[in-house]
Amino acid sequence: MDVIVIGGGLTGVTTAYQLRAAGHRVCVIEQHATVAQEASFGQGGLVLPTPLDVWFGPGLSFGMRQMLFGSRNGMLYQPGLSAAARSFARHLNVEREPERFAQQCTHLRPLIELSRRELGEIETRHAMEFEQRDGVLHLFRSARELKQAATALSLLQQFDYPHEVLDGDACRTIEPSVPKLEALAGGVFFPNERSANCPLFAKQLKSLLDEHAVQFALGRRAETIRLESGRVVVELAPEREGARPLEAGTEIIAGDALVLAAGAGTQNLLSQLGMRVPLYPVRLHALTAPIGYEEHAPHLAVVDYESRVTISRLHNRMRFASAPLLQGVRKTFRPTERKLRERALATLGQAGHTWVPGAAKLSALRDWDGIALMSPDGLPVTGVTAHPRLFINAGHGPSGWGLACGTAKVVADLVSNQPSELDAPSLAAISPARFGVGGSPSSRFDHR
Ligand SMILES: Cc1cc2nc3c(=O)[nH]c(=O)nc-3n(C[C@H](O)[C@H](O)[C@H](O)COP(=O)(O)OP(=O)(O)OC[C@H]3O[C@@H](n4cnc5c(N)ncnc54)[C@H](O)[C@@H]3O)c2cc1C
Repeated sequence: MDVIVIGGGLTGVTTAYQLRAAGHRVCVIEQHATVAQEASFGQGGLVLPTPLDVWFGPGLSFGMRQMLFGSRNGMLYQPGLSAAARSFARHLNVEREPERFAQQCTHLRPLIELSRRELGEIETRHAMEFEQRDGVLHLFRSARELKQAATALSLLQQFDYPHEVLDGDACRTIEPSVPKLEALAGGVFFPNERSANCPLFAKQLKSLLDEHAVQFALGRRAETIRLESGRVVVELAPEREGARPLEAGTEIIAGDALVLAAGAGTQNLLSQLGMRVPLYPVRLHALTAPIGYEEHAPHLAVVDYESRVTISRLHNRMRFASAPLLQGVRKTFRPTERKLRERALATLGQAGHTWVPGAAKLSALRDWDGIALMSPDGLPVTGVTAHPRLFINAGHGPSGWGLACGTAKVVADLVSNQPSELDAPSLAAISPARFGVGGSPSSRFDHR
């Protein structure tokens, strides 16, 4: 089949990889001059989430208190008059129920393992190096935080996640750059979890796909999409100066199936077809600096449990990332108000100052932000829509790095009419059908 993928972020590139591996002819449309330029660009580097990392569950709450005074969890909640932001926050609040949290984690777990396997296969088969680093250490400042994490900790046991619960001294033994602090109540160490450079991986994968005849229409924006009975048609916006033409004069690309992996642009494209998925854009922030003093730099990735700031070491740089800002949609797509941005960056700086003082060369700090699309139940939106030729792979929220490798496989199997390797409940839990825009397997088209 001829499959078009809109979006050359990590999700689009991994989807193209899996589709090509399944034998399809693939064209990726990306508005930037190269891949991984938006959310996938300056992100935190944690590869796969555990129940301690996800952004739903008992640890996250949104209300008046968080609005007025900010929240301990590092999330800036500024809905203003936006009914959509408040409604999204209300939905996330529902996910705080421990039973609901356990249920969503149960659905996520098989996807995490599928993603781990797919990423592992890609990196082994192609001998890829993208600044992978083993070991993630979550740090807790107080007994109250440990108590708050109780449900997540019990799920780690239940799901057999290899992990060690440590006291403060043991945390410092395992990661000596963590200073001796009164405020360190303990930590959880994941020896098998990793950090790695996401855009580097995406670019390497793109080079590989170039060699395997995947077409990249770079510097081309998909302007309109049309679903016709026998094919899908994408019209491209006029070419920007300097962009490499896909084929002289080509302004329309047609194919047998279309995958929307357009990150924050997904909603706009879907709305052209009268479809709506309640994905919400959240702006996340990052600070990056060269390593200041090697002896102060951590060798593990460190996560501040309370503020959810991830501190990762990418080759000779330190990256501090997270500090989400939840506000009205229009505001999210505009440059952030200076004060809010300063607050977000201060959250990152504070976590760095607390856990790895001296690790980063502060005079060379660079800030960055990007938009991650989140679903109201915390899981990605991956699957076929009500139109059998249209697929979505988006909404990975703060956990898209490794998960994109798994959802890419799910989409490729669906497009190829192959049985999925995910169990039925997990497949249903990530399907667009849960928001009323999905198709059922029986409505699949016959593409033989
Ligand atoms: C600051 C920050 C820190 C993060 N930290 C982590 C982390 O530590 N671990 C983790 O797992 N996840 C993290 N994430 C989330 C993760 O980066 C995202 O989930 C993931 O990168 C999403 O990839 P994507 O390809 O879906 O989206 P994107 O990378 O945003 O890619 C979408 C692409 O679609 C293109 N596009 C959109 N519309 C069109 C159109 N009409 N025509 C052509 N092209 C179009 C865009 O140009 C873009 O390149 C973080 C995110 C941010 C912003």
